[in-house]
Amino acid sequence: MFDYQASPDLLKGRIILVTGAGSGIGRSAAVNYAKAGATVILTGRNIEQLEQTYDAIEAAGGPQPAIYPMDLQGATPEDYEEMGANIEQNFGRLDGLLLNAGQLGTITPIAHYDPEKWMQVMQVNVNSNFFMTRALLPLLRLSEDASVIFTSSSVGRKGRAHWGAYSVSKFAVEGMMQVLADEEEGVSPVRVNSINPGATRTAMRASAFPAENPGTLPTPDEIMPVYMYLMGPDSKGVNGEAFNAQ
Ligand code: NDP
Repeated sequence: MFDYQASPDLLKGRIILVTGAGSGIGRSAAVNYAKAGATVILTGRNIEQLEQTYDAIEAAGGPQPAIYPMDLQGATPEDYEEMGANIEQNFGRLDGLLLNAGQLGTITPIAHYDPEKWMQVMQVNVNSNFFMTRALLPLLRLSEDASVIFTSSSVGRKGRAHWGAYSVSKFAVEGMMQVLADEEEGVSPVRVNSINPGATRTAMRASAFPAENPGTLPTPDEIMPVYMYLMGPDSKGVNGEAFNAQ
């Protein structure tokens, strides 16, 4: 596991947006960021799940979060602009962006991959990250110390048979991370990195490996150290790097 111990008020006063905040790794990150003092904007498409994350943050005594429902499949560039305007109006800036939402698609050889499914995976895993980053960058640049975290995968670093659009989308995410990091280097307070969570006990993992015993995998809470490190001030100056949570 990545070796880092976050101080209790690591993220005090920070405004952090988390996508896919209603379940799995995204929920854990949202709750842990709030526990460390951040006001978290919870984004996802399932309001009930987002409310459960909201309740978990309240129960943990974190700052009151905000819920911003959004279906990344259907959202248009204008929707992201509207999101930016909304955050600007309510918070004035953004200190962190965890681009965590993702879809697995199907485990199928490229020769048989359904074109519509391919485009859906690319829309959620790649295009939405571009639209959102583009719309929120001006707000991130207003922060004194902002962090953007992209979510990759082992198959985003080395291709693997049958992982299709998911694998290709994660390679694209790594590319976007590198391009943006290079653009922000030395000219803005924004640093940009990626995390490969590694095999983690979530619904997505269970759907990819139905025969696996989830009890053998770390929980989202257990892989949080690198998520804390990259979101907080201790990683200031770290830019354009690809991290492993495990
Ligand atoms: P989950 O399925 O629990 O989380 C994915 C999240 O993305 C869900 O909250 C999901 O919402 C959301 N999402 C999917 N599609 C959309 C959409 N169209 N609009 C809005 N939100 C959407 O899985 P994980 O927590 O495991 O995944 C988190 C990230 O970690 C992903 O990027 C994944 O690729 C990555 N990852 C995970 C690994 C693992 O072993 N768990 C390993 C490597 C990478 P909904 O519940 O509504 O579908």
